Amino acid sequence: MSYKKVTHVLFDLDGLLIDSERLYTEAFERVCAKYGKCFTWEIKSSILGFQGHECASKIINALDLPLTKEEFMGECQKVYEIVFQHVHLMPGAERLVEHLYNNGVPIAMATSSSQESVNMKMQNHQAFLKYFHHVTMGSSDPEVTKGKPDPAIFLVCASRFPDKPKPEDCLVLEDAVNGVKAACAANMQVVAVPDPRIDKKLLKNATLVLNSLEEFQPELFGLPAYE
Ligand SMILES: [Mg+2]
Repeated sequence: MSYKKVTHVLFDLDGLLIDSERLYTEAFERVCAKYGKCFTWEIKSSILGFQGHECASKIINALDLPLTKEEFMGECQKVYEIVFQHVHLMPGAERLVEHLYNNGVPIAMATSSSQESVNMKMQNHQAFLKYFHHVTMGSSDPEVTKGKPDPAIFLVCASRFPDKPKPEDCLVLEDAVNGVKAACAANMQVVAVPDPRIDKKLLKNATLVLNSLEEFQPELFGLPAYE
């Protein structure tokens, strides 16, 4: 497989740059357990990469929880405020982002999360956030009319660079099947760094699949190599 040169890089956030998927799982497990239900990997895999309100509906339906979407999200919010004080960057995330930034490669973030949620998760990583030219937050951005797997979030995110790169000049990094689909639909190359439990068959449209951001070689896409 050959890779095309790109000029701009778009990053997903949850599960790709930060280990927040583990913390969402913990929150959902705790809330579901209160109602005697078990939040399984099967359900987790079906909600990866979706916006918060979509996740809530899917979990309520899958487990027949006696809660409205708002009640479920409210209960989760209380757990988030505790567990998200301990978000860590994923291995290789800081090295890659800092490297691209220092070499003048324009980078941005395209996350399905809301502004409020990003603020909470990144409270201890403000310096890291500054590397990004901008952050497009699907759940609170009026221009992002549909969540992933719709391509809207990546197209809107790309359009907010001052030089407005074409989709084919952008590379997306994603952990979720849904995000890979969204990037492909946007006509962008996409490097997947999935949870190891994800069925690789679901990622067959990814340009490249890696086990960790530490394995990413920027020069494959015409970006500056590490020293
Ligand atoms: Mg993700």
